[in-house]
Amino acid sequence: MKASEIRSKWLTFFEGKGHKIEPSASLVPHNDPSLLWINAGMAPLKAYFDGRVIPDNPRIANSQKCIRTNDIENVGKTRRHHTFFEMLGNFSIGDYFKEEVITWAWEFLTNPQWIGFDRDRLSVTVYPEDEEAFRFWNEKIGLPAERIYKLDENFWDIGEGPCGPCTEIFYDRGDKYGDLNDPECWPGGENERFLEVWNLVFSQFNHNKDGSYTPLPNKNIDTGAGLERFASILQDVDSNFDTDLFVPIIDRICEIAGVKYHVNDEHDVALKVIADHIRTVVFAVGDGVVPTNDGRGYVIRRLLRRAVRYGKKLGVDRPFLHELVGTVGDVMGVYYADVVEKREYIEKIIRLEEERFHETLSDGLALLSNLVEAASNAGKQEISGGDAFKLYDTFGFPYDLTEDYASEHGMTVDRAGFDAAMEVQRSTSRGAHQASAGMSVQGGPLADFTGKSEFIGYDELTNEEATII
Ligand code: ATP
Ligand code: MG
Ligand code: MG
Ligand code: MG
Repeated sequence: MKASEIRSKWLTFFEGKGHKIEPSASLVPHNDPSLLWINAGMAPLKAYFDGRVIPDNPRIANSQKCIRTNDIENVGKTRRHHTFFEMLGNFSIGDYFKEEVITWAWEFLTNPQWIGFDRDRLSVTVYPEDEEAFRFWNEKIGLPAERIYKLDENFWDIGEGPCGPCTEIFYDRGDKYGDLNDPECWPGGENERFLEVWNLVFSQFNHNKDGSYTPLPNKNIDTGAGLERFASILQDVDSNFDTDLFVPIIDRICEIAGVKYHVNDEHDVALKVIADHIRTVVFAVGDGVVPTNDGRGYVIRRLLRRAVRYGKKLGVDRPFLHELVGTVGDVMGVYYADVVEKREYIEKIIRLEEERFHETLSDGLALLSNLVEAASNAGKQEISGGDAFKLYDTFGFPYDLTEDYASEHGMTVDRAGFDAAMEVQRSTSRGAHQASAGMSVQGGPLADFTGKSEFIGYDELTNEEATII
């Protein structure tokens, strides 16, 4: 089943259950300074949840573009994470609640008219104190108790505001993906044998300022399912990157780089990272973001630079990312017409940024060759951490390139000195950011939808990250 078919089945199914279909909102949050990016299907609908706006129809469904930069480290390493993905959602604003949402989720997943998963492959997690959800799964749906896992973290809570327990649905991908005797294979473990596909949140409490919880006047439902994950299961492929949402993009990169997918692990990671990042950048630029030195524009700049660096790992030394825009449009245009309509503009923004970065790289190389020569004239075998940091910080030259170049000339780089300089700069800029911004994008409300993983803002990349992009 093609991804576009899954998306339309979702919308048709929920339309049939009386939902109003909302188009995907922009990736750039509207009137919401707490968020850098829309990172969940519910994020653009927040005003309905907290009662500021009353929707015409209390039942809503969508397929929402999302960006989660906190998953950047996972991209290319796990089978299931992207920085840009689509979250399929259905929502009830004070209308239906647990029983309906569980019943419909099961119907959508197991009825052959819709997704048609084998019911024996499905397991769920519930919040340990949520006996009601346990009962619905066990008695109404008929899911055996041993396939209902109780997990403490199944409580969606963003600090002050609506919150509540959730129940998540996992699909067992079978022995090929891990050994059932290994607890890491069970829902919630690190292994991806049980793939988390859908999160159903019962927004039924208010988390008050004083830390107490009181029942909300309205009980809401907020769900999110990963389109790419459904596609990986339904197309019976190894990872999200092997679905029809990614393969044409990866094929195009292979063509440009003259490499093959599924031959060399390091190349595969690079192909996945580039395919991931180009989708993110294309959609963000389509939504009006341009590369800059702060905020969203900085995220885009870093993602592009990161993709260029991974391109180098594939042996591509020229601007090429803009050549992928058309392919992203071919794949996504069926639902997101604007990426096709704005193709030329998006290509131009990306090409200019790539060209600029390539210039940075060649300027950096010229400086570096002077440094190496000076060090060698002085009888030294090492580039100082301070110099490496200056190259990175002032000229945007990535650390690992400095190291590669140094080693080609029989030298090392003082990594500890580089890290220390980075740390000093980080704490300074963090202080400055907090003092001046007045806009909490980091760890703010809804920073990460589940509260389990912390949103990493643009000034909070790890050292490894910072040096590669
Ligand atoms: P995971 O534990 O796999 O990181 P999550 O618990 O962080 O997922 P939720 O916040 O519950 O995810 O989001 C709802 C759904 O959105 C998930 O069940 C999954 O299908 C999808 N999803 C979440 N993050 C990503 C991502 N980075 N890439 C692709 N799909 C995602
Ligand atoms: Mg999870
Ligand atoms: Mg989840
Ligand atoms: Mg996550």
